[in-house]
Amino acid sequence: MSISTTIKSASESLFDLFYPQNCVSCGTHLFKNEIEVCRLCLKRLPRTHFEKRPHDNVISALLWGRCKVEYSYALYYYRKGERVQKLLHSVKYKGNKKLGVLLGNELGKSILSSEQIFDVIIPVPLHQLKQRQRGYNQSEVIATGINEILNIPVNTSVLKRAVHTSTQTKKSRFERWQNVESIFNMNKAEELRNKHILVIDDVITTGSTMEACINTLSKIDGVKISLATIACAYL
Ligand SMILES: [Zn+2]
Repeated sequence: MSISTTIKSASESLFDLFYPQNCVSCGTHLFKNEIEVCRLCLKRLPRTHFEKRPHDNVISALLWGRCKVEYSYALYYYRKGERVQKLLHSVKYKGNKKLGVLLGNELGKSILSSEQIFDVIIPVPLHQLKQRQRGYNQSEVIATGINEILNIPVNTSVLKRAVHTSTQTKKSRFERWQNVESIFNMNKAEELRNKHILVIDDVITTGSTMEACINTLSKIDGVKISLATIACAYL
């Protein structure tokens, strides 16, 4: 072991002593080789295994007749108050980018196992104002993690969020549809002509944001569109 590695690991242990790292999900102290979530929690998360049937699963059924999707992937099922929600909350609101990249890596591995090929990754954009407030876009962080595994470029310049939407929860499905129908627009869309696009979001619940996103991107000539999210609601 070199002197610099020894110093580095000594300082890491010292840091760990004063700032112990705990599992985001269950709160237990993490071992040195664990990042953000303990191995036990990671194992207990409810996997969907959609990568085994990416053309025929809960998400494709949810979006059927609303937008045209080739393949859909989700790592985990999501239910309010459960572990997966805790993890996503940490990525979205607590600045835990490390966890976002880690979950992106896991999602990337599951997509890789389905042996489908994509040309470009597009994270669902946040409105500029929201991104400035939060400091980052969680979908972009997840996309970075997917890119580390799949080696596909991440494009954040074409799809833009035009409207700063208010909270969706208290609206009817029709109002939500009206609300999201025109929230995205595109810039230099010809760059993506004839590409197979993989759209990334952190979670799918009603599917209305994803629907609006895909319907906007579908206006580009010759594109095929697939999607991947960390979690999808039990339906
Ligand atoms: Zn844990």
